Amino acid sequence: MKIGVLALQGAVAEHLRSLQLAGAEAISIKRTEQLEEIDGLVIPGGESTTIGKLMRKYGFIEAIQQFSEQGKPLFGTCAGLIVLSERIAGQDQPHLSLMDMTVSRNAFGRQRESFETDLDVVGIDEPIRAVFIRAPLIQEVGEQVQVLSTYQDEIVTARQGHLLACSFHPELTDDYRLHQYFADMVQEHIANQ
Ligand code: GLN
Repeated sequence: MKIGVLALQGAVAEHLRSLQLAGAEAISIKRTEQLEEIDGLVIPGGESTTIGKLMRKYGFIEAIQQFSEQGKPLFGTCAGLIVLSERIAGQDQPHLSLMDMTVSRNAFGRQRESFETDLDVVGIDEPIRAVFIRAPLIQEVGEQVQVLSTYQDEIVTARQGHLLACSFHPELTDDYRLHQYFADMVQEHIANQ
């Protein structure tokens, strides 16, 4: 099982490490041709407008949409969640438009721009440690989307079939269980091919 991390901008090295801890072979993806080598892709946190513009510049929008059409799993964290979603409240920026949800950027207010908390996540036994950095929240989800966790009644983790997204940075702690959850989705996709 080989999982890629989109390496245009943002927290790439930490995701590679967490994926390796979860038992996957992990590589950074800088060119669209590399998508053919991998079974799943992580889109990291960073700055969603920058990531979106670089994706458009290097042909990743269509390439990742085709990757997704093959049922290959995608995991967006923080800015990656924004890029995966169909609707970004009040913003017009390049994105993939894959998950049926509306997101709001930088949604946790000034004094809470960055914070850590323990979160219950559906499908993971004990709460996970979550680091939020100028995080987005999911305002509204379509019928196909399953909510996996909330923080103060706001949706912060969601799944739509082979697509997974969270508002926080799971790669910044030693707790790699959400990467394990994603690696299991990738494993399942490979088994069902
Ligand atoms: N605030 C950033 C954005 O809107 C996301 C922050 C992050 O990825 N840590 O793109």
